[in-house]
Amino acid sequence: CGIVGFTGKHQAAPILLDGLSKLEYRGYDSAGIAVRNGDGETEVLKAKGRLKVLAEKTNNGESVLGTCGIGHTRWATHGEPSENNAHPHMTDDGNVVAVHNGIIENYQELKNKLTHKGYTFYSETDTEVAVKLIDYYYKKYEGTPVDAITHSMVRIRGSYALAIMFKDYPGEIYVARKDSPMILGVADGEAFVASDVPAILKYTRNVYYIGNLEMARVKKGEITFYNLDGDEIEKELKTIEWDA
Ligand code: GLU
Repeated sequence: CGIVGFTGKHQAAPILLDGLSKLEYRGYDSAGIAVRNGDGETEVLKAKGRLKVLAEKTNNGESVLGTCGIGHTRWATHGEPSENNAHPHMTDDGNVVAVHNGIIENYQELKNKLTHKGYTFYSETDTEVAVKLIDYYYKKYEGTPVDAITHSMVRIRGSYALAIMFKDYPGEIYVARKDSPMILGVADGEAFVASDVPAILKYTRNVYYIGNLEMARVKKGEITFYNLDGDEIEKELKTIEWDA
């Protein structure tokens, strides 16, 4: 039920865990992070239960190396609370990895389509279906991540805040939003993704609000927004004046 993302100069995992702890009020049954070091492999760590379990598993994030990552606290809607169903979800080849808040209403129909195309599924979540749908369109059209996400957004019915990393784009996080909360933050040489402002207030007061059916490419110190056509759109940077 909470999302945090970070890309920058610092180690991502401790920032992800800290941010997720600020979103605990939203409720959750499991948690997980995916972190990438440069263009290396993505490391995924998950735990059922309290964030504390994940923190212990990763020595407060210190045992996971990498400066780009995404984190999640899950409130299960499809599939029981378990480590296997916890996010992040990743394709078998590590091409796409993502966290998701919301509900993919037509996930069964999409799952059938993907199964037909040769995809297999390890979890009961609607989220794994979204991840593999994005992977499918990415490979089918050989376009940019934004193209692949656009194709998927047109197909998906339901609500989502998605934070996605692509193997081919180290140091970048892609996000998409429809009817689930998400904000983006930026600071010198780094950028943040979060469900809500308190998760990142310690690091930056400069935020963007992303609208419904919009996407963004989040790079170190730079965020670009796109509409459903994949065209770039302008956003105003806002300053948060209040304290958490
Ligand atoms: N529907 C997804 C799941 O059950 C996401 C739930 C959430 O928003 O945390 O895994």
